[in-house]
Amino acid sequence: MAKIKKILVANRGEIALRIMRSAKETGILTVAVFSEADRQALHVRFADEAICIGPPASSQSYLVMDKIISAAHETRADAIHPGYGFLSENEDFARKVEEAGLIFIGPSAQSMEIMGSKLGAKAAVAKFNVPLVPGTAEPVTDPIVAKKIAKEIGYPVLIKASAGGGGKGMRIVQHENELQEQMERAISEATSAFGDGSVFIEKYVSEPRHIEFQIFGDKHGNVVHLFERECSIQRRHQKVVEEAPSSILTPELRKKMGEAAVNAAKAANYYNAGTIEFILDEKMNFYFLEMNTRLQVEHPVTEQITGLDLVKLQIKIAEGEKLPFKQDDLRINGHAIEVRVYAEDPTNHFLPDIGTLKTYKRPQGHGIRVDDGFEQGMSIPFYYDPMIAKMICHDETRERAIEKMIRAIDDYEITGVETTLSFCNFVMHHQAFRSGNFSTKFVEQYFTPESLKAEVTEDEAQIASVLAAELLASAQAHHSGQAVRSTESKWKKNRLINL
Ligand code: ADP
Ligand code: ADP
Ligand code: MG
Repeated sequence: MAKIKKILVANRGEIALRIMRSAKETGILTVAVFSEADRQALHVRFADEAICIGPPASSQSYLVMDKIISAAHETRADAIHPGYGFLSENEDFARKVEEAGLIFIGPSAQSMEIMGSKLGAKAAVAKFNVPLVPGTAEPVTDPIVAKKIAKEIGYPVLIKASAGGGGKGMRIVQHENELQEQMERAISEATSAFGDGSVFIEKYVSEPRHIEFQIFGDKHGNVVHLFERECSIQRRHQKVVEEAPSSILTPELRKKMGEAAVNAAKAANYYNAGTIEFILDEKMNFYFLEMNTRLQVEHPVTEQITGLDLVKLQIKIAEGEKLPFKQDDLRINGHAIEVRVYAEDPTNHFLPDIGTLKTYKRPQGHGIRVDDGFEQGMSIPFYYDPMIAKMICHDETRERAIEKMIRAIDDYEITGVETTLSFCNFVMHHQAFRSGNFSTKFVEQYFTPESLKAEVTEDEAQIASVLAAELLASAQAHHSGQAVRSTESKWKKNRLINL
């Protein structure tokens, strides 16, 4: 077994910091790589050593394999953790890292290759009796063939990029007359985003829930799942709110889906951390979507309910250790919810809102975890993903976790950029979310920019009544000669300023 002594983290932002913290606690040294845009970034300051790998554009820095591997050699690191995004799901990178005599903290290049294309993944897991969304098993290029297939599947259908990720390269087609145009768009989007224009057709499940299973395997053939995460609150097919466990799974369904997830991982001889994504239809049928062969953005909700540090586990597995537990040893403890705080304007189609964090104050308290990569005064670089932070609340029950999240969102102070916090607040208050009866259509069905404005009006009303009461009290106190403590809290002042 090879003990790791120094890890180079081939990433930036919150995830780079999160990985380094676990390494440090394990007595492992850390190396940061950074682009010229990230010279002042927190991950650079946190690491034991840091190496600049090029200009801001990720194509010239965080995505350049040779520069990263050279940096590892230069600093005598013995392992590389890729985080998520960037090179994390690139099998060539995993291969090059191992060829360079370094440990890749993740699955094997072969597993990544099998699961890297959605079509390849579907073919592999089908052999292990994992249910698939009805659709094509091969890429489709000819619109006439596509029309025939779509007719068989039945509209609406979804055209998907086989190499897709991050919600890109996906087109819903409602009627046959839109098929050709949408297919051309999907192909061109897939070609420019992923360098691979292969697209395929899937039945569009109308109001599904996105339920994914965290799996973990070791290099000795053991695979377990660490329960599910519900990620149905999405915009642009991308997650904004995630929770564990899902409020809709029964213990029986959890067991069944968990077994399917473990089988899917076994189909790729998988080891280390991975996620099997499913959609669940209204009749509680589940279908495999894809596998993400890396640590997931939303992994903290799983950490909260299992009490495990997934990065430490990843390191142990990479060192060759066996999984320290069996499936039956694992239990769900309480409920965790994560909201992603993006620098985006929910009232303007969730478009990125890049700028400087004029005020940046994190909420605090029992059961609240904020994973971020920023401090007050820092700017959000326009070159990368506009995620500022992830906030995770953990409590005994879902209801309590929601209440805690509402309080934490309220205590989170960010000015200078618009963020998704107001949207997340809307979600936490919404009856559909609270009842647990919602789907990936949540945003489309319930959210309009006016919903946030309405909320401001409610705040206004509340503030107005507080101020009125205060004026009255003050007048009465004046009358009776007593001093009055101001009831206007900082929160209300902030809200007043924001109006
Ligand atoms: P997750 O899949 O972990 O729940 P996302 O879908 O938002 O979360 O993806 C995680 C990160 O990886 C994001 O920063 C996203 O932009 C990036 N990403 C995901 N897939 C790809 C891909 N195929 N190519 C490039 N970036 C990707
Ligand atoms: P990505 O690689 O971009 O994450 P996924 O296949 O995981 O692509 O799909 C992303 C999201 O798109 C899912 O979480 C779900 O909301 C939606 N989606 C994907 N496939 C289907 C489908 N067949 N029917 C309905 N919604 C789907
Ligand atoms: Mg996905």
